[in-house]
Amino acid sequence: MCTSTKEMTVASWQKVGAIDLMSKDIPALKSGEVLVKVAASGICGTDLHISRGETPHASKKVVIGHEFSGYVQEIHPDTKALVKVGDLVAIDPNMPCNQCTFCRNQKYHLCTHLFCIGVTVDGGMSQYVSVPARAVIAVPSHVSPEVASLAEPLSCVVHAVDQGKIKTGDSVLVIGAGPIGLMAIALASTSGGRVTVIEPSEMRRQKALGIFGAIEAFAPGTLPAVDGALGEGFDVVFECVGRPNTAEDAVNFTKAGGTVVWVGVAKVEDRVSISPFDVYRKELTITSTYTNPYGIERAVKVLAENKVNWSALVSHTFKLSEFDDAWKVFLAGTGLKVVIKP
Ligand SMILES: [Zn+2]
Ligand SMILES: [Zn+2]
Repeated sequence: MCTSTKEMTVASWQKVGAIDLMSKDIPALKSGEVLVKVAASGICGTDLHISRGETPHASKKVVIGHEFSGYVQEIHPDTKALVKVGDLVAIDPNMPCNQCTFCRNQKYHLCTHLFCIGVTVDGGMSQYVSVPARAVIAVPSHVSPEVASLAEPLSCVVHAVDQGKIKTGDSVLVIGAGPIGLMAIALASTSGGRVTVIEPSEMRRQKALGIFGAIEAFAPGTLPAVDGALGEGFDVVFECVGRPNTAEDAVNFTKAGGTVVWVGVAKVEDRVSISPFDVYRKELTITSTYTNPYGIERAVKVLAENKVNWSALVSHTFKLSEFDDAWKVFLAGTGLKVVIKP
């Protein structure tokens, strides 16, 4: 694909319905930037939304990839960076403007001018990528690049679990045990929750139980029904699917006084049907979680501690030249994280 030493191979959203491999010039560094040689880049559900034209803020012809790690190749001389050439780094792709009302009020993730590496500007499904120095964070060298590429999705889950405000001994339900759901199970468990999971895949249920800390796992429709009594259900429910029916289930499975966290990304046009009376009578807190504010450093620490076998989240690795095969495996949905190693 790549034909000269100044060119590199990238996977780019060229038109609705397709992510295409193509050649592109290796980016020239600007002041404030770091050039990263990408080592591992995960495919995410957001990439599927982008490919289908379902992400309103995605830029046409953008190089995808917002979950990646790599090695610092070059630092622009006019750049203050806390990393050095050769460091393994993870990337926080969400870059706020630091000027708008949200940025000035401790909600930078809701920035009205947020740009996102791999969504609005070129990302890490690529051999090289230039990113602002503030986007990179050093990862200890004992962490593998594949595990380091999990820092971004894990940072989103750090924020999601913060939203759940779990107390020790709380009953927690996680609906959906894909990579995000499994991360939520792990962090909810280590936060003191007793975690139940609903997930159709036997393989994922077994990983939830055996590796990520769930205490019980059910296929959809087999969890004993909640009949609406105030004391029934779970203290905290994380919906990690992004479909209307599971968003409704999350509300219905929450006990009085409990908290629902909608983590999964729904389609723009989706709608749910829930009972305002039930929400009122049960005094439910229904909240959501958008990106990963203040989560990336904690995510890197948790990955580096290695108390959970995080590498179990990576089910497939491919070269960038094999991106089409990787995309098919990702679409089939039978594995977990599909990671590209350019
Ligand atoms: Zn993602
Ligand atoms: Zn802002």
